[in-house]
Amino acid sequence: MGNQFGGFRQLPPPGTICPICLSTFIVPCQTNCGHWFCAECILRWSETSRIMKTMNCPKCLALITSIAVDNSASRRFTAINIRIWSYNATFEEPSVLTRLRRFWLISLILVVITLWMVFHIPL
Ligand SMILES: [Zn+2]
Ligand SMILES: [Zn+2]
Repeated sequence: MGNQFGGFRQLPPPGTICPICLSTFIVPCQTNCGHWFCAECILRWSETSRIMKTMNCPKCLALITSIAVDNSASRRFTAINIRIWSYNATFEEPSVLTRLRRFWLISLILVVITLWMVFHIPL
């Protein structure tokens, strides 16, 4: 799976067309569920489904948490790269380290609140 932003060199299988606009890809990109779309089409799709925050794949309805874009094609389209990057940054599963940090932060806040209640509430 070439999901990491930046390191993507795979191309869609020959003869594949975009299921949204039904034509050949200009900037091909692959979702985490393995389906291929034009970068433009999937970004437009993500805008229409923004209420749900994360979009679902128009083809298999899987939750799209990351989009891999063909670098060689997208190099000419900086705006597309930026929008895909920001989508990935917003919706990608937080790493274990991020979750651990969040857990410690919440624990710390709880401890502080407990201490504050113990020492500051008059009996
Ligand atoms: Zn398309
Ligand atoms: Zn899919």
